[in-house]
Amino acid sequence: MSKKLIVAGGGIGGMAAALALHRAGLDVTVFERAPVFAEVGAGVSLWPNATRVLESLGVLEEILARGETVTQFNLHRSDGTRISAIPMAGYATPAVCVHRADLHRALYTPLPAASLEPGHIIESFQDEDGGVTARFAGGREVRADGLIGSDGINSVIRAQLHGAVPADYRGYRIWRGLAPDPGGLVRGHISETWGAGRRFGIMPIGQGRICWYATYNCPASQPDAMDGRQAEVRALFRGWHDPIPALIEATAPADILKTDARDRPPLRTWGRGGVTLLGDAAHPITPNVGQGACMAIEDAACLAKLLPGAMDVARAFRAYEQARGPRTAFIARQARRIGTIGQWENPWVVRGRNFVTRLVLARRPGVQLNAVYAYKV
Ligand SMILES: Cc1cc2nc3c(=O)[nH]c(=O)nc-3n(C[C@H](O)[C@H](O)[C@H](O)COP(=O)(O)OP(=O)(O)OC[C@H]3O[C@@H](n4cnc5c(N)ncnc54)[C@H](O)[C@@H]3O)c2cc1C
Repeated sequence: MSKKLIVAGGGIGGMAAALALHRAGLDVTVFERAPVFAEVGAGVSLWPNATRVLESLGVLEEILARGETVTQFNLHRSDGTRISAIPMAGYATPAVCVHRADLHRALYTPLPAASLEPGHIIESFQDEDGGVTARFAGGREVRADGLIGSDGINSVIRAQLHGAVPADYRGYRIWRGLAPDPGGLVRGHISETWGAGRRFGIMPIGQGRICWYATYNCPASQPDAMDGRQAEVRALFRGWHDPIPALIEATAPADILKTDARDRPPLRTWGRGGVTLLGDAAHPITPNVGQGACMAIEDAACLAKLLPGAMDVARAFRAYEQARGPRTAFIARQARRIGTIGQWENPWVVRGRNFVTRLVLARRPGVQLNAVYAYKV
């Protein structure tokens, strides 16, 4: 009989896992705390390592149709001069930027309706011989052969396994917004602009929409400025190159999202018995390399390779964790390092950083990028 699995948390990671496991013939149900399955209004970049998996799941075509294929990543100074450009050609599957809701929908639409259970908050689990019982708010209990905790950076499943420890704040805040395409952008190009202690990113996500993000060094959990998020971002990026001021201006103030940059040190062991973790619950990554969701998608593909045919779910989970631990720790380290360098403030250090970055990326960016993008699960 096919193994029965619970996926707790129906974000991008949970849905990717559910689809990959469903396609592999397993009996999987997703329990999500939100009353409906929905993703917040921002974009996400998906790099060739993740689009390869999405292709194998049969959903890449739809994502490419809704998003915008990336052909080049440009790095600028705040006056608009270019530090470097990285072409994105030559990978088996393309990079793409897409609205999160479009990605999410592409992942859950092929799933049977009965396998999606919104409005369920997982509170705890009990791991017994030969099975796991998940307990939800309101008292419902569900028993299965395995439980996959994909409930995000503040995962309750991770907290039960490893203790409730707050994620580490990395010293800067991130705003994200969506604006209509102001025109004049080169199709397929995405960019990040580096200043002193602040950065601004521009990602066309298809259908005439541009997702932007902005970072700034400050203490954790700061409240919004009195005059609101848009005014705060406008002031921080005043005088930066076009179309940055226009994009900020064209964004509905109420739609600007704000997040603290956080991650966690890698875990030595992720799960126990019939319980494992996936995505941000296992390895939250600062957004500096745009790989958090991509790692969750890779996790999903890895689980779906190891679980079918496994007699023992717990052993398959441990094999999955061993396969995924080093890869996700490496990416998280890269992201943290780039975030630290990108947020340097001293103007002289910043000039040196931009100069060295240009030299390093001019030499052989392909070697470093291949380790990330050409990865096969
Ligand atoms: C500013 C920013 C920009 C980013 N940009 C990129 C990018 O360009 N590319 C990229 O690859 N990654 C990016 N990331 C990272 C990416 O967003 C995350 O890695 C990804 O969303 C993780 O997916 P997840 O499913 O593991 O977690 P989440 O997306 O957090 O999903 C967790 C789900 O679990 C649900 N949940 C939580 N608690 C419970 C509970 N108790 N019971 C039931 N359900 C629960 C939540 O409602 C949610 O639906 C970015 C992150 C940030 C902060």
